[in-house]
Amino acid sequence: MAEVEFRDVTRRYPGGVVALNGFNLTVADGEFLILVGPSGCGKSTALRLLAGLDKPTSGEIRIGSTVVNGLAPGDRDIAMVFQNYALYPHMSVYRNLAYGLRQRKTPRAEVERRVRETATLLEIDKLLDRKPGQLSGGQRQRVAMGRALVRRPQAFLLDEPLSNLDAKLRNQVRGDLKRLHRELPVTSVYVTHDQVEAMTLGDRLCVMAGGEIQQIGTPDEIYNRPANTFVAAFMGSPPMNLIAAEVRSGVLHVGGAAVTAVSTPDGPVTVGVRPEHLQLHRSHVDGLLPARVDFVEPLGSHVLVTALVDIGDEQTRVIVHAPAGTDLQAGIPIGLGMPPEQTYFFDADTGNARRSRERVAI
Ligand code: ADP
Repeated sequence: MAEVEFRDVTRRYPGGVVALNGFNLTVADGEFLILVGPSGCGKSTALRLLAGLDKPTSGEIRIGSTVVNGLAPGDRDIAMVFQNYALYPHMSVYRNLAYGLRQRKTPRAEVERRVRETATLLEIDKLLDRKPGQLSGGQRQRVAMGRALVRRPQAFLLDEPLSNLDAKLRNQVRGDLKRLHRELPVTSVYVTHDQVEAMTLGDRLCVMAGGEIQQIGTPDEIYNRPANTFVAAFMGSPPMNLIAAEVRSGVLHVGGAAVTAVSTPDGPVTVGVRPEHLQLHRSHVDGLLPARVDFVEPLGSHVLVTALVDIGDEQTRVIVHAPAGTDLQAGIPIGLGMPPEQTYFFDADTGNARRSRERVAI
């Protein structure tokens, strides 16, 4: 196992697309790091550069103490699992797992030991005699992971490995991955666009957009202290509500309404509150954000209320996570409470979090 480092790595494609721009990231030995962001943000490019399947335009990539820029994929001592994993259909699970080790001329007894150990870890030890065609999707995926793990690589690279599985299986394999990493903490870099996978699996997340890092942090830091409006809106479902506002003489104004006193400097600001933190009141009183119900979506365990807030000449939609049974007519006025410790302020121009006040970590 080893530390992995990207130092000022840029990948520019012919035609001018900058897929990765001045990328700096250190993944600690044994850490499970998630690269997360929307499609096209450069996360696969980062992984392909680390794997040696592509070359950086500039910058340095290190695995352990070795700078690997000049090394072929096979010489990097890493293992990869892609979404389209390919098993050898005519070989048993045992031979699929053993294949890479045999190619490397590993002694027979050692192959046997490692295959059985890995199969036990992945709970596929009863399936070693079967062919891939006789396995379920989840079992095949575990064999694919086993093939990568059996080599005990320095680092484990995973590119959306769960995206071809149905929702139930995805949850199950996600749990397997978490357990596996606890038992065998190989340095792992995991690419996904799925924020639930990112939050549940990662020791730390690297949130990316447009080839650049937006924020690196633990799931708790990313969720509770987003560095900017991009991170705030990307992580969380439904996303954080973002409302254009202005602070005048210490009072937050949204549209024509003076809402509440706030402890952030005067000026234009984007206010952020997560749906689960907005407090819904059936009438509007001072100190609340005035809104009007647009529609209500009952989801069993809770209700999502979408409301409209006047922000001057326009309206903006906000979503409120309300208790099950909440029933509101479209069009009625409501008031929304914004708890100070769960209200975020972002610079109106740059979208960066205002750091005038420490956020309360939960
Ligand atoms: P992600 O994995 O986050 O979806 P990628 O790393 O695959 O994003 O791509 C990042 C950007 O680089 C995208 O704009 C993509 O279109 C571009 N890109 C990726 N591969 C190539 C290529 N071979 N040639 C040109 N542009 C590419």
